[in-house]
Amino acid sequence: MNLAAAFILLSCGAVQDPVTLVREGKPTLPLFAGSVAGPADELRKVLKELSGAEFAPSKPERGAAGIYVGLVADFPGLEVERPADLGLEGFVLRTDGKSLFLLAREAPGVQHAVSTLLHRLGCRWYFPGKTWEILPKLATIQGTWNERQVPSFATQRLIWYGFGATRKCADDLAEWNRHNRMGGPVQVSIGHTWHGLDPERDFKDHPEWFALSGGKRQPSKPCYSHPDVLRRAIDHALKEAAHGRGMITMSPPDGLGYCECERCTVVFQGGAPYASHSTTFAKRPDGLVVNVTSETLFHFVSEVAKAVAEKHPKTVVGCYAYSAYSHPPSFKLHPNVFLQTTTAFRRTPLTLEEQLKTFGERTAQVGIREYYSVYQWDWDGPHPGTVEPLKLQKTLRFFRQNNVTSVNAEACNNWAPRGLGYYVASQLLWDVNADVRLLVRDFYEKAFGPAARVMERYYARWYGAGVQARDGTELPKGQAEDEDKKAQRVTADDLRAAWRDLDEAARQVRDVPGCRERVDHLRMYLHYLVLRHRLEEAQRSKDEKAILEAIRAETVYGGRLTDTNMIHTRPLLGKAFLRRFKSFEKLLAGVPEAQEAGKGWRQAGAAPTREELETLWQEDKQALAIR
Ligand SMILES: [Zn+2]
Repeated sequence: MNLAAAFILLSCGAVQDPVTLVREGKPTLPLFAGSVAGPADELRKVLKELSGAEFAPSKPERGAAGIYVGLVADFPGLEVERPADLGLEGFVLRTDGKSLFLLAREAPGVQHAVSTLLHRLGCRWYFPGKTWEILPKLATIQGTWNERQVPSFATQRLIWYGFGATRKCADDLAEWNRHNRMGGPVQVSIGHTWHGLDPERDFKDHPEWFALSGGKRQPSKPCYSHPDVLRRAIDHALKEAAHGRGMITMSPPDGLGYCECERCTVVFQGGAPYASHSTTFAKRPDGLVVNVTSETLFHFVSEVAKAVAEKHPKTVVGCYAYSAYSHPPSFKLHPNVFLQTTTAFRRTPLTLEEQLKTFGERTAQVGIREYYSVYQWDWDGPHPGTVEPLKLQKTLRFFRQNNVTSVNAEACNNWAPRGLGYYVASQLLWDVNADVRLLVRDFYEKAFGPAARVMERYYARWYGAGVQARDGTELPKGQAEDEDKKAQRVTADDLRAAWRDLDEAARQVRDVPGCRERVDHLRMYLHYLVLRHRLEEAQRSKDEKAILEAIRAETVYGGRLTDTNMIHTRPLLGKAFLRRFKSFEKLLAGVPEAQEAGKGWRQAGAAPTREELETLWQEDKQALAIR
């Protein structure tokens, strides 16, 4: 049988027999790996874990039945229609009644094909770490697949931790990313830069290279229309590109103080300048409103990208598009320019929609910087904030409709409170129209088995009705309130209700390994919230000894949750410790154990054992006066 013909048949949607990969723990097909080793190895490894079947690597033979894993180009004789449309990450996952094909045009697509097949077989990686990995036992593996997918956000899909992570937690996140098809072909890395200038030294010799701001030259910013500055920036960018950097940042130094010299303000074409949004605009004679910083800076960035592209056509030049340069420029940028904007810090009269639409018309690659969790905003509190699933889908659809190709979201390693939202986000970043109700129902059922209904109730208490898997489930009280307003407030009643839910769930999954450990992770988090509540009570009583004891208990116990990924202990133990306990700064100054990260109270430790957790759980019951 001609395999190319088989593909054409499949894309017409022909009905076919299921293909069996494993029968009674034995492989029934050879596995043909192409030139991309990682995904094929992983498929072999996971199929063995699921079924016990050992797939030895085999050399493909033209026309032979098998599991084909690799690039289309690896298997002469196989063809996929419109391969160029698969882009850098698209793939096909198909059967033809006798073989299974996991094929892509580029290497990342092969990994996504494998991750997708494993997902179809029931494997899940809901949160980072082994506890939240679900690998079903399957003696026989068979199925029919006919899928062709490309991601909704094709440049980048990224969730990263604002305060970083320990080695283990970073490894856990990398695995989670791979299994949930996060990432993207462009490693977006944008930061503030002087574009190769030295503001101290160069300002002495060449003040004319710097901004004319407030009537005099200042080393606050370069003058972006000065030809020497452009030349310097091109040299700097070419050097970086020669070192193999995929993205070169051209975002200005932080803060305001941009140039408004005669050469820069030529962009107004005679229109009268006016100050607005702390920057300068003018209406040109043709009626278009332009901003001096956007016009000069983006022209400069585009020229750098053009010069770099001549020698390094794949290198991208990245720049933020916010603050004084929020307003889209009047011209099209070089296709290798990537702009990243944000929903905050917008100094433009345009609405967010108008702004994104126009940026999308001016450049091929627009990214958005999002905030899924910021430690000093939400402190690992139990409410979902921006990652409430229905709100998330609405926002991501809006971005997609307005030409956004990359979402770069700051988050925390706080999977107890925000994990369900992060998981749904990962699925929506790949397919913005995925069914959110099905996703959350799948989460409750696979992660918690017999406790699915109780856990749905638990999550709905914090997240609201958006995480209910079905209609008609009784709504927990208090959900009508605005989520953001109460984002940090946790009452004793909230804690009591959550304790009862998790207590019931723990009894239901007592003899169900996997589910039990997952419920226990959330019980560990609840104990942490109870300790924080204890500090609030101590603060009300103004008992200094009780306050210090509560801070000690919260910090030491918090540190012990480090490896679980349930809360973000990096900031708690490190840089944000004194911010978290700001009201007690004076009191803490006299406590040597509280002074240094990594010492005294502020250390990572081992999570509670099962027995210890039971003891803590009963203590919480007493502390919350639950009868
Ligand atoms: Zn200037």
